[in-house]
Amino acid sequence: MFQRTLRRLSAMNSIVFLIIFMVFGTVIYGYISYRLFDKVDDAMRLKATNFRIVNGRIIPQSRNRFLFDPRVIIMLRDVNGGTVNIFYTDDNDITRLSELVEDQKPDDRIVTKEFENHSYRVITFPYPFEDNLLMTDRGPIAINGIIAITLVDSEVASLRHLLIIIASGMITGVLIIILAGYYLAKRAMVPIQKSWDRQQQFVADASHELRTPLAVVKSNAELMLRHPDHTIEEESIRVTNIARETRRMTKLVSDLLTLARSDANQSELKLSLVSVNELINAVAEQFVPLAEMEGITLQAEISEQLELTADRERLHQLLVILLDNAIKYTLPPGKIFITATKHGGNISVAVEDSGQGIPPEDLQRVFDRFFRSDKARSREKGGTGLGLAIAKWIIDKHGGKITVESKLGSGTKFSIMLPVKRVF
Ligand code: ADP
Repeated sequence: MFQRTLRRLSAMNSIVFLIIFMVFGTVIYGYISYRLFDKVDDAMRLKATNFRIVNGRIIPQSRNRFLFDPRVIIMLRDVNGGTVNIFYTDDNDITRLSELVEDQKPDDRIVTKEFENHSYRVITFPYPFEDNLLMTDRGPIAINGIIAITLVDSEVASLRHLLIIIASGMITGVLIIILAGYYLAKRAMVPIQKSWDRQQQFVADASHELRTPLAVVKSNAELMLRHPDHTIEEESIRVTNIARETRRMTKLVSDLLTLARSDANQSELKLSLVSVNELINAVAEQFVPLAEMEGITLQAEISEQLELTADRERLHQLLVILLDNAIKYTLPPGKIFITATKHGGNISVAVEDSGQGIPPEDLQRVFDRFFRSDKARSREKGGTGLGLAIAKWIIDKHGGKITVESKLGSGTKFSIMLPVKRVF
């Protein structure tokens, strides 16, 4: 699937660049060609309108010959369509040029023509004056047009070179763009591929996690159905199993939903001014009886009044995850400490326990979804393997940092740094 998208993406990139190249090339070619011939055409127009016929003779309009481009050759057209070479009658080469304009129709006003391996620019102007009778050796000839001709070999050669440069630039450019486009598309696909793989893994893990409790519920229900005459008391173990697994599934589904919403960026923080002291005391109070039941002491120590802008519910959820873990993975007679202090623009909160610890090789992975370092205990205590992934998401969303230090057999410390003011 990704290979096809990759090919499509690079093909689309190349086509877009090719179109841009073509438009750019055409504009440059058109502009240069216009500029080159525009100058020639102006010179031709100037020279062609510099005389008139008075009493059968050609009279120049301006005496300044240097004004005129010597490359421009002027011929006249008579009313019958013939050409009259009054200016260059003794020059054979130029007289032959009349062949070039023989088929020139009065409406082909400006053309570039090939003649005997040379390129000529030809412009036909109508003769604008009424007195148009020119006296020649052949007798009087009525003139109705002026033809200006210029040798434009150098302009045409320049344009040809430009075309070759643009075409070769386009071919090289397209080759580079295809390769670069493929490479860039491939690089752009890496994070997409990674996130796709992660998502696939997440779905597979989630299904796997749900399968076990579902199987337990199903088998216990089927076993109960075999004895319809049994009372609830007689089946209390199975009912307890079903209730426990249903609780586990409810927690799992709720955790999955939290992470799915976080992935889809659908979870927005509800920011307000939160008193860290009040929050920690409230959560600790909630956990003290639970800790006592497990034979663990829980203590909260906060030196000063601490406040920050945060989502109270999310911070509560974060502390619950950390304290719940601390109790789950600490054997009696263990100790749990919660401390909170201020460091510059940050508030740091630490949850430290004297529990079993995490092996060094697992420390980096504890924040991964569904990662369990101590699988047996996590399952036994109803863990989903998603708690720390949710904790990390909450911290990231608040622009903070969470780190873990642990020594196997002697305890674990989760440290959180949260900015007092959320910087977006
Ligand atoms: P779980 O639901 O399994 O507790 P978590 O994401 O909260 O999932 O934690 C991931 C794993 O990290 C746990 O399975 C456990 O092995 C380890 N862990 C988390 N907190 C502690 C702790 N305080 N002490 C020891 N191990 C811990």
